[in-house]
Amino acid sequence: MIGNDIDKKSIKALAQLIEQCNNVVITCHVKPDGDAVGSTLALFHILSTLGKAAHIITPDSPPRSLRFLPGCKDIIPLSAQEDFCKSLIDKAELIFCLDFNAINRLDKAASVISGAKARKVLIDHHLYPEPFADITISRPTESSTCALLFKVICALGLRPLIDKKTAKCLMAGIMTDTGNLSYNANDPDLYTITGDLLRLGVDKVNLWERLNTKSLSQLKLNAFAIDNRMEMLLNGRAALITLTAEELKNYNYVKGDTEGLVNIPLSINGVAVSVFMHEEPGFIKVSMRSKGEFPVNRLCSEHFGGGGHLNAAGGEFKGSLSEAVDTLHRVLPEYSGFLPHID
Ligand code: 5GP
Ligand code: MN
Repeated sequence: MIGNDIDKKSIKALAQLIEQCNNVVITCHVKPDGDAVGSTLALFHILSTLGKAAHIITPDSPPRSLRFLPGCKDIIPLSAQEDFCKSLIDKAELIFCLDFNAINRLDKAASVISGAKARKVLIDHHLYPEPFADITISRPTESSTCALLFKVICALGLRPLIDKKTAKCLMAGIMTDTGNLSYNANDPDLYTITGDLLRLGVDKVNLWERLNTKSLSQLKLNAFAIDNRMEMLLNGRAALITLTAEELKNYNYVKGDTEGLVNIPLSINGVAVSVFMHEEPGFIKVSMRSKGEFPVNRLCSEHFGGGGHLNAAGGEFKGSLSEAVDTLHRVLPEYSGFLPHID
């Protein structure tokens, strides 16, 4: 049965906390993606159905591309409404932290959330969760927080509360973190869950169309990056794409426009590591993907101020773009022993 393998003690404690609370805040990592937004919204719908006064507070705004998800317009970004968010956090008895493992992933919301008196519950699938929560349900083997959340909802006996809109949010997260069930997608449970979500009325075909839709300038920016700003490393086993702030501006870049770009080089024959770096005000945002056992989380934590999963990681490099590129050139060969064999 789905959810049976979630730690019973945690579920019992969580059920008690939910029962006792009224004011709840749900939060997720900065630059929220489909899994972060999908999981916070799904939990929001469940808690609202239970009659709780729930609010979603994100460090910054969700990307425009996700605003179609049911409830997304009610998300309150701390960056836009700091005082209101602080008052909600102050009033909360329970704070759910979804889809991140370290408090600094909350960016400017980190101090206010970590300083809150509310009990905290972490539900997440990233490696090495920091011990900041009262209850930690962490499963790095899960493809997405949404898949894990579905299991937690089942374990809590709340599966009957998942309606069509909640199902849509959960499916959006699963599809985002598995590239529409194409990677991290070997867990048979995933198909039991997605089958269940489809039976609840989710239109997966339409949902993927929405999640995968790009603006013309976004498509052109991605094409420009691959055509002009991609360099092959490690004898064609790795690819690096870089974009300067000026290049982003030339294509009217808005947040989220390069989402997915880092995955594309992995479709090149033989490429097992893909790195994308772009200039942000004050730092270089680094994003990495890999195949097999190549640990991009290690590469990111050891050299690029970040971390993440074995095959999907990121970081913030303090320095210039050319310094970040030089660092990669210098350190990447040290990891070449992890490259998967080509058959
Ligand atoms: P993305 O490349 O999509 O921005 O991030 C992929 C994964 O890398 C995220 O799910 C997260 O686990 C991790 N990640 C991205 N950026 C950072 C960062 O700045 N710090 C840390 N610790 N992890 C990051
Ligand atoms: Mn996720």
